[in-house]
Amino acid sequence: MPSRNDSKIIIVGGGGTIGCSTALHLVRSGYTPSNITLLDTYPIPSAQSAGNDLNKIMGIGLHNPVDLRMSLEAREMWREDELFRPFFHNTGRLDCASSVEGVKGLREEYEEMRSGGSGLENTTEWLDDEKAILAKMPLLERRNIEGWKAIWSEDGGWLAAGYAINAVGEYLKAQGVNFASGEAGSFVKPLFDADGTTCIGCETQDGSQYFADQVVLAAGAWSPTLVDLEGQCCSKAWVYAHMQLTPEEAAEYKGVPVVYHEDFGFFFEPDEFGVIKVCDEFPGFTRFKPHTPYPLTSPTRMSVPRSHAKHPTDTIPSASDASIDLAIRTFLPRFVDKPLFNKRLCWCTDTADAALLCCEYPGWKGFYVATGDSGHSFKLLPSIGKHVVAMLEGSLDAELAHAWRWRPGGDALKSKRAAPAKDLSHMPGWRHDATVG
Ligand code: FAD
Repeated sequence: MPSRNDSKIIIVGGGGTIGCSTALHLVRSGYTPSNITLLDTYPIPSAQSAGNDLNKIMGIGLHNPVDLRMSLEAREMWREDELFRPFFHNTGRLDCASSVEGVKGLREEYEEMRSGGSGLENTTEWLDDEKAILAKMPLLERRNIEGWKAIWSEDGGWLAAGYAINAVGEYLKAQGVNFASGEAGSFVKPLFDADGTTCIGCETQDGSQYFADQVVLAAGAWSPTLVDLEGQCCSKAWVYAHMQLTPEEAAEYKGVPVVYHEDFGFFFEPDEFGVIKVCDEFPGFTRFKPHTPYPLTSPTRMSVPRSHAKHPTDTIPSASDASIDLAIRTFLPRFVDKPLFNKRLCWCTDTADAALLCCEYPGWKGFYVATGDSGHSFKLLPSIGKHVVAMLEGSLDAELAHAWRWRPGGDALKSKRAAPAKDLSHMPGWRHDATVG
């Protein structure tokens, strides 16, 4: 095994969330920057990265102990690390529910927060009625939140996601890390030594060959389409839209908490240009079609992402227009007539148990996957790369190695969500070109 000084590493998807974090931690751990190569279809911050977005929620994952541990570690870095601190907006967060089942689940979540000894007991509060919710967020309309309960997280907020990835990219460029994009940056297949068991690099769409000691595939929603992941990841799209406030409106909404309701969606404080992003909440959309990931030799039916970057006329299904409209009527009724712009599908990849898939590819020595974000991994940007580096060095913490192991089986189509994803082929309204595929 070469030393940190000499080791050559390729990161596929290096313009995205997990990929650029990995490169950052390689550099911070003493790897020679000129030995690190980041391949991505688009320059960093990649136009098709799920993380290249106006904002994301800084939430604390409570699905399992690993989730909680990872979230707390990341939050610490968003607060303390010089590179990341400017991008954490600590506005607080309201997680709301109103159905009987929803309130029951929310209360259980709250009890878990209070009991874990994680410190969350000091920063979270149960809000039992509209009055308590309005005290935290007076700009909601009382008539729209009747019967709502909420958890208030004083230490929550939002992350200026695209800006943060860009900052990592600027740092990596200044350090002398190598980048390739376009066809020269688009992974096609791994390359192997003569006996076919050790990965020695990879080939990209223009036929370029890159050689390295280790290759990390961190291609997000595209990962299962590039190499066969044995059904462990199912790629899905979620939806967002933006509205422009006037300067007076933006001033009024400045500093508002992130408001999330499991039946409606969520919205964020306006950015510095007065733009508010609104999302609905649903189990995602797939796009099933025949596709042949390496090394399969015949097509299999799988969900294949289609990025807005490559298909700029794509918008969102008509059903999503309706559910985003409902979210706006609920959260921001005074803005219901504002035109929406930048309506996009944004792609992630779910595993069956919503834990990452972060391990060496069985039978391919030196080829690793770092994917399976399951739609909640942007918050890990500052810290996830540290663990990917540990994986490359064979020193990944046993608890993480177990949670993120190769584990075929299970239902990635449904994952931990309320229902299986619907397919975009049944969702009219998002496609406005004549391109086949
Ligand atoms: P990405 O960041 O998508 O990176 C994958 C990269 O691979 C891309 O840059 C892509 O260009 C590249 N690539 C693709 N094909 C190739 C190829 N052939 N060769 C080379 N490169 C390639 N998370 C949160 O923590 N909080 C939130 O509030 C939140 N909200 C979300 C809202 C929406 C609408 C969506 C869609 C996601 C949200 N997420 C959130 C999830 C989060 O964005 C993802 O979990 C995370 O960004 C995934 O990181 P990744 O590195 O796996 O993939």
